[in-house]
Amino acid sequence: TSVEDWARSDRYHNSFLHADDAVLDNALTHSTENGLPEIAVSAAQGKFLNLLASSIGAKRILEVGTLGGYSTIWLARALPADGELISLELSQKHAKVAQRNIEHAGLSSKVKIIVGPAHDSMVEMKPDTLFDFIFIDADKPGNTNYFIQAKRLVRKGGIIIVDNVVRYGRVADPSSSDANVEGVRALLKAVKGDTEVDATTIGTVGDKGYDGFMYAIRK
Ligand code: SAM
Repeated sequence: TSVEDWARSDRYHNSFLHADDAVLDNALTHSTENGLPEIAVSAAQGKFLNLLASSIGAKRILEVGTLGGYSTIWLARALPADGELISLELSQKHAKVAQRNIEHAGLSSKVKIIVGPAHDSMVEMKPDTLFDFIFIDADKPGNTNYFIQAKRLVRKGGIIIVDNVVRYGRVADPSSSDANVEGVRALLKAVKGDTEVDATTIGTVGDKGYDGFMYAIRK
């Protein structure tokens, strides 16, 4: 099987399970038109994040890595009227595109983007109001540091998801050693034996290729 087969499979399933969504389509088009890379989660993954956040009744969500706000919109849609999502993004340009997409989605009252290095923003956050759900999807070498901060900022029983932890199986391939692969390996080493979380990796395959999420629960 190839990426084309995986993409066809996603389209097939989505045709039964997803309604047409001009707002999300617009977010992707507007991002591409502004030169953002096409590295947002897939529609099926976005909806999966939305369903996970809904299933725990998440009221406060933290996202690390906004890009054009595509996953932000999926996640913010899971929030109740008084819910809040904070999204951290390094690039002023990405944040500007995301802000417009979020406005277009009617979600600006619930979403706040903080521009700057995500780790600095996380370190500055006081854990007085903890998050229910944290989605880590920024630079992969930063994964372990983001995860350590996420553990501090998530409530007990809350969820931490880390994207792109399989990378076409390269993370497990000893002949692969780029910085992204090493970033995931370092995270896995840090989580091994960590008594504050319980975690698993869920491999995913679809129109974004062969990858996976780490799903962790804060104990
Ligand atoms: N979550 C987005 C989605 O699915 O729609 C995709 C995020 S994209 C994979 C990663 C983003 O992280 C990029 O927009 C990049 O600019 C941002 N990023 C990279 N390094 C960062 C850092 N140190 N702090 C905050 N954001 C960073």
